Amino acid sequence: MTTTTLDLIGNTPLVLLQGPSAEAGCEIYGKCEFTNPGASVKDRAALYIIRDAEARGELKPGGCVVEGTAGNTGIGLALVANALGYRTIIVMPDNQSQEKMATLRALGAELVTVPPTKYSDKNHFVHVSRRLAEETAGAIWANQFDNTANRKAHIEGTAKEIWEQLDGRVDGFTCAAGTGGTIAGVGMGLKEFDEKIRIALTDPHGAALYDYYAHGELKSEGSSVAEGIGQGRITANLEGAPIDTQFRISDEEGLAWVARLLQEEGLCLGLSSGINVAGAVALAKQLKADGVENPRVATILCDTGFRYLSTLYNAAWLREKGLPVFDWLERD
Ligand code: PMP
Repeated sequence: MTTTTLDLIGNTPLVLLQGPSAEAGCEIYGKCEFTNPGASVKDRAALYIIRDAEARGELKPGGCVVEGTAGNTGIGLALVANALGYRTIIVMPDNQSQEKMATLRALGAELVTVPPTKYSDKNHFVHVSRRLAEETAGAIWANQFDNTANRKAHIEGTAKEIWEQLDGRVDGFTCAAGTGGTIAGVGMGLKEFDEKIRIALTDPHGAALYDYYAHGELKSEGSSVAEGIGQGRITANLEGAPIDTQFRISDEEGLAWVARLLQEEGLCLGLSSGINVAGAVALAKQLKADGVENPRVATILCDTGFRYLSTLYNAAWLREKGLPVFDWLERD
């Protein structure tokens, strides 16, 4: 069978993470989503959203895909659109990493940056992208937050892959939510295989979902510098997500795992991956405390750290944000 570039999306490796497994005293696995062609988990949603729009007859040859994104979905959409002959217009808040913007420009996407604002503001990047889609001939709005083709990519892809890669022996799964497509889709998919698998939301500070799942109220406190995660509302992708439990993880805890995974295992990752790993360790410890013997927990390694050389891996930036600086960044 011939392989096309779009076949490179998904079927990512699942690796046993040594440090986190030692810390939890059981097996913790990371799904290497940075091996997708756009180097993030969002290639999966991008492919499903575009294929769905084609199947519904909304996206026609030579058409255009418009989206508001923290960057990774835009990169995935631009790659898939290039491979299928569509244009892309990407709207991004201007506080996201320079590397993501440079990558989007390099891929040929038309990039529009806007100041970061609250979702309720009419100039929030999501609303600007919707209006641009309406004004552009032949364009569709990808609408990753409320388009459930996003989570379907994880029900049919990510969840099934994790189940098969762990030979049907998995006790828990956790990750953070941006759109919620990954946590909802993997959660739904894994529950179809085994209802007992515990699904945990790992929320960064400044997001409202921890309180929603713990107490039924959307409420946030603090803030996070993690890009691509931290949601303040129940998106269509999150509706009906089978969340059994939840953890709130700080940037410091996430960064400590980013540092360990880099130094001990040679994995260069973004901060959402570190936050996910901290959540996975917490979930494994909870399962053990509840009497599950040698639990096996999986999480998502969402994107490559090479996307954050100017931020997470830059001593001046870390210092400016009041975050601990990795020793090796201070070497002359
Ligand atoms: N991590 C990163 C780096 C991301 O860009 C995203 C997507 N916004 C996520 C995690 C969260 O994925 P999802 O949108 O499926 O919730």
